[in-house]
This record gives sequence, structure tokens and C-alpha cells, in this order.
Amino acid sequence: MVVVTISKQAVKRKILVPAIHEDEVILLLRKINLYDKVIQGKAKCTICGKVITLENIGGFIGIDGEIHLVCNNPKCLIQAARISEQEK
Ligand SMILES: [Zn+2]
Repeated sequence: MVVVTISKQAVKRKILVPAIHEDEVILLLRKINLYDKVIQGKAKCTICGKVITLENIGGFIGIDGEIHLVCNNPKCLIQAARISEQEK
């Protein structure tokens, strides 16, 4: 699990949480109002477009204050990290 958070206002940039618990993922999803979407199969990986489930969530990426989900495909996680580099 990788959490990528980026803010245009710089500084607030995080790439962390290597081993987040599924419970914490659920809490986090509830917090950002994406839990229902994931449960209903409506959430998609922002990189590859694959449907995100609780089993394949790889991380969260925040761009301009909006949170997007990334699946656990290493390619997508690398791409997400690249986006975070560009947002610097
Ligand atoms: Zn993906």
C-alpha cells in the first residue's frame, strides 16, 4: 500500500504508509467519500482504468485537492509516483 498525497500549495506532499491495514483503508475511503464507490465497483484506477476493489487498492493520489485511487499494479504505482514528481 502506497499513499501519495500531493497539493499544489507545495510542501504537503507525502508518499508513505507501506503497510496500511484494510480497516484503515476503509476508514480512509469513508473519509474521502469513496468507500461506496469502491463497494459498488464504480471506482477506477486513475492510471489504467481498472475497477478498484478493497483487494486491489494500491494507493491514493491527491492532485489539486482531489483524491484519485490507484490499483496495486506496480506499473500504476510507478506512474503515480512519477505524477507526484511532476507536481513538485
Ligand atoms: Zn492501475
